[in-house]
Parts: sequence; C-alpha cells; structure tokens
Amino acid sequence: MSETIFSKIIRREIPADIVYEDDAVLGFSDVNPQAPVHVLFIPKQAIPTLNEATPADAELLGKLLLAAAAYAKQLGLAERGYRVVVNCNEEAGQTVFHLHLHLLAGRRMHWPPG
Ligand code: AMP
Repeated sequence: MSETIFSKIIRREIPADIVYEDDAVLGFSDVNPQAPVHVLFIPKQAIPTLNEATPADAELLGKLLLAAAAYAKQLGLAERGYRVVVNCNEEAGQTVFHLHLHLLAGRRMHWPPG
C-alpha cells in the first residue's frame, strides 16, 4: 500500500478543493496550478505509479480519463481543448507516488512539454 498526502485528501484528513467525486475517482484542484484549470484526478484505490497498474486496473484507468473529460466538458473547455498528463517516476517529474492524472486547461499549451 502506498500512503501519501493524497490518501489523506481521500480520507478528508487534510483540506482540498474537491471538484469531482464518484465511487472510484476523486478530483481536486492542484495547489500549485500550472494553468487556469489544473485538476488532479486520482483513484481512491492507491497505485504508486503507472508502472504498477495491471490489466485488472484497466477499468479504473478508463474511469480516470473519462472523469477528466467529463469535467472539462462541464467547464465548457472541451471544444477549446485541454491536456491530460501522467508523470511516471522521477525523470518525468512525479513527486507524489499515488497515480494521478493532471487535467490542464484554460490556456494555450506548448509542445514539446518541458
Ligand atoms: P506530480 O509531479 O505529477 O507527482 O504531481 C503532483 C502534484 O500534486 C503537483 O502538481 C503538486 O502541486 C500537487 N500537490 C501536492 N500536494 C498537494 C495537495 N495537498 N493538494 C493539491 N495538490 C497537491
């Protein structure tokens, strides 16, 4: 099991700006936003990184993506566009080892990312 600050957010032990919740997924605003909209979508069942995800997690991974898309549509940003990012391990910049999907929207994105 991987206990991180995100586990505490799921248990409501530390505050977060929760914007989305269903049976399997929680979405909350990133404390250090990199775009006008920057929301993290996490599975309630912790997986440290994408490397530890298995075929048994396929439905859960799909739910994370669909939650991000639904939230972007809800904000009216889907047509303009948005970016979804998963950082895996140190070289990609992962700092919290509870798998999460970044939803970034509300400004023009650049490619390649930094
Ligand atoms: P990553 O670098 O992909 O692991 O992303 C971790 C993200 O979690 C960073 O963008 C942080 O700003 C964000 N973060 C860390 N602690 C919190 C917190 N308590 N509430 C909301 N976001 C957080």
